[in-house]
Order: sequence, then structure tokens, then C-alpha cells
Amino acid sequence: MAMAMENDKTLCDICNEEKLTYLCEGCSKKFCSMDLTEHHQMLTNELRQMDIDYAQDCKKFVMEYLATSCNNIQMKLADLHKETKQTLNDNDFNEINIHYLKNQLTEIRQVLDNPTKIIIKDLQPFITQYKDNGTVNDLKQ
Ligand SMILES: [Zn+2]
Ligand SMILES: [Zn+2]
Repeated sequence: MAMAMENDKTLCDICNEEKLTYLCEGCSKKFCSMDLTEHHQMLTNELRQMDIDYAQDCKKFVMEYLATSCNNIQMKLADLHKETKQTLNDNDFNEINIHYLKNQLTEIRQVLDNPTKIIIKDLQPFITQYKDNGTVNDLKQ
């Protein structure tokens, strides 16, 4: 029995001592119980860092997305304003022109009213998941 125990001992990949080891299926290395804990802690830290990176990437994406769509809306509004003024100046318009301009404005208003809500809605699970970690707190409405 003692012999069998003795035979079970193998070299730990970290401390290089002959001990009872546990195989990590992820990296196929063997660790003694102490180093296995350390190994697991290392993996935990790596995953936590990824989690933070992911949160920051998402935040960056949302900010950039919002900035881009705000920019687009601003440009569209400016264009429409110019077009409306031009139509008035030319004094050459009928219901069709007015209808067209009205439609354009309605479209912009819909975009103004919705995309922020849509993207916040899409990201809601993410915001809920990360709201306690502090990195995306400023995303909350
Ligand atoms: Zn060890
Ligand atoms: Zn491993």
C-alpha cells in the first residue's frame, strides 16, 4: 500500500518535486495540490483580466457607435435644414416637396428617438451583468 502510494507520486511541473500530482486537462501539466491552487488562481486572474478588457471594449464600442450615429443625425438635420431653407428661398414648391421634407424629418426623429434606446436595450444584459464591476457604470441611463 505504501509502495503504491509512493508510485503515485510524480514530478510537479512547477516546484519540480515528487509529490501527489493532479493533471490539469487544460494544459496537460501535473501539479502538486499547492501549485494546482496557484495554477488555478493564475487562470482565474487571466479570465478576470479578459472580463475587464471585454467590458472596456464593449464600452468603447457603444461610445463610438453613439458618437457616430449622433454625428450622422447632426449631418442629416443640417442637410435637411439647408434643403428646407433652399426650397423656401426658391419659392417653388408644392405639397409633394413639403411631404418629402416632412418625411425626412420624421425619419430623423425616429432615429433620434430610437437607436439609443435600441442599443441600450441590446446591451441591457451586458450592463446588468457588469454594473457592479464599476467599469461600465457610466453606461447606465
Ligand atoms: Zn508543486
Ligand atoms: Zn493548466
